[in-house]
Amino acid sequence: MSFLQPIREDYRSGFVALIGRPNVGKSTLVNKFIGEKVAITSPVAQTTRNRLRAILTTPKAQIVFVDTPGIHKPHHLLGERLVESSKKVIGEVDTILLVLEGCEEPGRGDAFIVNLLKAQPIPVAIVLNKWDLVQQLDQAQRVEEYRSLVGNDDWSIFCCSALSGDGCDELIKKISSFLPLGPYLYPPNVISDQPEEIVLSELIREQVLLHTREEIPHSVAVKIDRVEEVPLKKRKGDLSIRTAVLATVLVERKSQKGILIGKGGSMLRTIGQGARLQMQKLIAGPVYLELFVKIVPDWRSKPGRLAELGYEGK
Ligand code: GDP
Ligand code: MG
Repeated sequence: MSFLQPIREDYRSGFVALIGRPNVGKSTLVNKFIGEKVAITSPVAQTTRNRLRAILTTPKAQIVFVDTPGIHKPHHLLGERLVESSKKVIGEVDTILLVLEGCEEPGRGDAFIVNLLKAQPIPVAIVLNKWDLVQQLDQAQRVEEYRSLVGNDDWSIFCCSALSGDGCDELIKKISSFLPLGPYLYPPNVISDQPEEIVLSELIREQVLLHTREEIPHSVAVKIDRVEEVPLKKRKGDLSIRTAVLATVLVERKSQKGILIGKGGSMLRTIGQGARLQMQKLIAGPVYLELFVKIVPDWRSKPGRLAELGYEGK
């Protein structure tokens, strides 16, 4: 391996999957753990479509978090691909974090996932997330409710808030101790395994999710057509670089295209502006972003389109 390895003999490393229903805060937790935005998040269920690896390197351990789309009942081919992709991860990691909506009582969807995980041998830790929303008086009872849902004492329960960060450090310490002894799996300065194009397209999709409602979020996919570094002439002959990004936003129907473009192009401008600011943070330089909107009827049910957009099958 070409990069430096840790000197400590007791260094630990391994893969940790975040499994849970959509919208429980898996991606927000990953961002909190890493301390930077590696996964997009939103109040809309099924925001995460790719399996994303985010890497945390500490002096004692390297933890590779595998964020998943979430397990739910699929209604179309895209949904099926997302659930398949989450389930496949379960067999490929050292530890599983089962993330649950701590601010609500356990429900049927939770029991389904608990049973799925009980049927496999990999150690599981329970994360009761959104603990900031649970009244102090109710906390002990809520832990008890989840303890009886799980029905065994082998799985530790952690209460935390991905928003405030409360409980996250303790969780990281515990997770590190679950991992096997081992070297770096990624260079220590790397925090994500996503290709640049995916990261850029996800930043655009995040803005679509933030600014549109109802059927639009689920009907949208983003494809990056071109990324180019363009030299910019500045005063005194200085040269600086601007990154030009051309991207297409796919929708399923003409009405959706209308909503996405908005009156006089206002919606597309808002989305483009938001995405451009995020991209500038990521790239640490000026970005020029041009968005096109294209109708592809029923792309969510077409295997060829899904593959082209990076939503691979098994
Ligand atoms: P995922 O589908 O499980 O990846 O969920 P996301 O990370 O996209 O989060 C879904 C929503 O829950 C977003 O609006 C988050 O801001 C919110 N959220 C996540 N974690 C917390 C938390 O600890 N407390 C509160 N109050 N909200 C949270
Ligand atoms: Mg997510």
